[in-house]
Amino acid sequence: MAAMPPSKPHWAQLIREVVDSGLCTGCAACVVVCPYDVLSYDEGRYKPFHLDADGGPEDCTHGERGCTLCTRACARFRDWEPEADNFLFGRARSDEEVEGVVRKVALARASDPEFAADGQDGGFVSATLIWALEHDMIDAALVSYTGGGDSSWKATPGLARNREEVMASSGSRYTYSANVLAYQQAQSEGFERLGLVGMGCMASAPAIMKARKAGKTARRFALDIGLLCSKTFEDSIFPELLQARYGLAPANIAKMNIKGRLQIWDNSGEYHEIPLKEAHAWTRDGCKSCPDFAAEHADISAGGIGAFGDWTLVLVRTQRGEELFDAMLEGGVIQTRPIEEDPGALGLLRKLAKASRRRWPDSDHQEPGRQSLPATTTSA
Ligand SMILES: Cc1cc2nc3c(=O)[nH]c(=O)nc-3n(C[C@H](O)[C@H](O)[C@H](O)COP(=O)(O)OP(=O)(O)OC[C@H]3O[C@@H](n4cnc5c(N)ncnc54)[C@H](O)[C@@H]3O)c2cc1C
Ligand code: SF4
Ligand code: SF4
Repeated sequence: MAAMPPSKPHWAQLIREVVDSGLCTGCAACVVVCPYDVLSYDEGRYKPFHLDADGGPEDCTHGERGCTLCTRACARFRDWEPEADNFLFGRARSDEEVEGVVRKVALARASDPEFAADGQDGGFVSATLIWALEHDMIDAALVSYTGGGDSSWKATPGLARNREEVMASSGSRYTYSANVLAYQQAQSEGFERLGLVGMGCMASAPAIMKARKAGKTARRFALDIGLLCSKTFEDSIFPELLQARYGLAPANIAKMNIKGRLQIWDNSGEYHEIPLKEAHAWTRDGCKSCPDFAAEHADISAGGIGAFGDWTLVLVRTQRGEELFDAMLEGGVIQTRPIEEDPGALGLLRKLAKASRRRWPDSDHQEPGRQSLPATTTSA
């Protein structure tokens, strides 16, 4: 007879079912939610780990005594997807909704030409963060910067507290930045209402934390902006592929994009193209089982799909997202064009979303004992 699963799952279950099984995305939500600071983050492997103290690497004495917060924060633990769906939308997505539940789709861009020029696509994400900061919706945003000076493309989590910092963080890096980790800095600076920018793996964290009542950390997330994403690369792609094979030193790269191929503009304005097949070998492990291309649990998801390079494809998902989007439109800080003007965009979105869905190990998900978490809570 199969053993009964523990009713209060904690780190011992998380490490076995998510981290060691290959489902862990490295989002760092378990690390920031831990009230006893016994979890840390391995930036080289993009994985959480348990400190030697208090139970050792594979167990947790606080978990044994009833703390379940790490499993309450993990958007890959057990039935995370229907739980987050039900919390946000009152129902699970249907099989046809491969991109998740959506209220409204549009092409959008920042009206301010400076934002649009600095942004990866239409500068919509940066315009939204600035609006939220300047309209008393959030106190700070958890975003990504490039670290180590101008010559480094190392993506690094950080806080954006104002317009200048939002602008400094705009654009996309295609290596991983666990923006959730900037939560710790936000807490030390006393910020209570936080915006999060992140790919699907991170964008599901606030919803699952709220669905599973993960205490104060859950309540502090006041806005969740998702980025469409099919993969990130290991940092070693810079020396081993871009520099070694193409002579592109990080210091000489001005902008990167992925549109069916890796696109690179160097500092002299010259354009370089690298077939994605060549870059596959540098795919980050944490992305290999990820089923969520479209950041399905964000308030608003944003991507660069479509025929118009300087517009952002926007999927508005929640009531909060819709109110924000409508207010920005009315306030004149964004412009939109109907999605019908780009008939191929939705087809491509669904094709890429379907491809990511195929990566989730269904058989694993169906394993006996994988049921929803109990409704009781341990507060932070
Ligand atoms: C790793 C990654 C993969 C992506 N893959 C796709 C894709 O396959 N298809 C698609 O349509 N769109 C993809 N996108 C989204 C796209 O690149 C743009 O971010 C999106 O269209 C919004 O553009 P914008 O001009 O409105 O954003 P901007 O105003 O330029 O703002 C971008 C925001 O993204 C944050 N950011 C940048 N790099 C990272 C990072 N590495 N990790 C976390 N946050 C980061 C910045 O801090 C900033 O807040 C991806 C983005 C990333 C970061
Ligand atoms: S997916 Fe995120 S929350 Fe879950 S174990 Fe990995 S780092 Fe922690
Ligand atoms: S594919 Fe993108 S959303 Fe999925 S785990 Fe990787 S970075 Fe996160």
